Amino acid sequence: MTHPTHTADQLAAAIRDAASVITTAARERSTPVLDSSGLPWIEAQCAQLRDAYLTGHARECAHIARTTSPTVMYAAAWRPGHLYCAPCAAVAFLDATEDNTCDRCRRTTEDITTGSVCFGPVVFAFGLCPPCADETGVANAPAKSPRR
Ligand SMILES: [Zn+2]
Ligand SMILES: [Zn+2]
Repeated sequence: MTHPTHTADQLAAAIRDAASVITTAARERSTPVLDSSGLPWIEAQCAQLRDAYLTGHARECAHIARTTSPTVMYAAAWRPGHLYCAPCAAVAFLDATEDNTCDRCRRTTEDITTGSVCFGPVVFAFGLCPPCADETGVANAPAKSPRR
């Protein structure tokens, strides 16, 4: 943080990148990008992560930890408090068990609703079983990209 204006520009760029990353991912994996405003469960997850990050308790991959400029970070509901760069996220999020586990009640089902939201430069992914998707409002949340 030697040059605040420069950092602000980089942060704005990282936020733009996060938005474009998430749109591309949504198109590739048919995962809707949701508007998380008014979804308390999603907002609580994001708030937890933000608190962890701001208080230095987030567990970052080595690359995020080492970088001095704002960059796109990846987080997932099934890895609370963890932040990853793109290559690390690609490895860390590859988990066949988690693909079929609800992030809210931990129930195992083939019928998981996946989605992602952006907050700041963070791309946050989650998967919910049908009852949790209903209860959290995710099932009926406005999507910023077409649903499958
Ligand atoms: Zn990394
Ligand atoms: Zn559930």
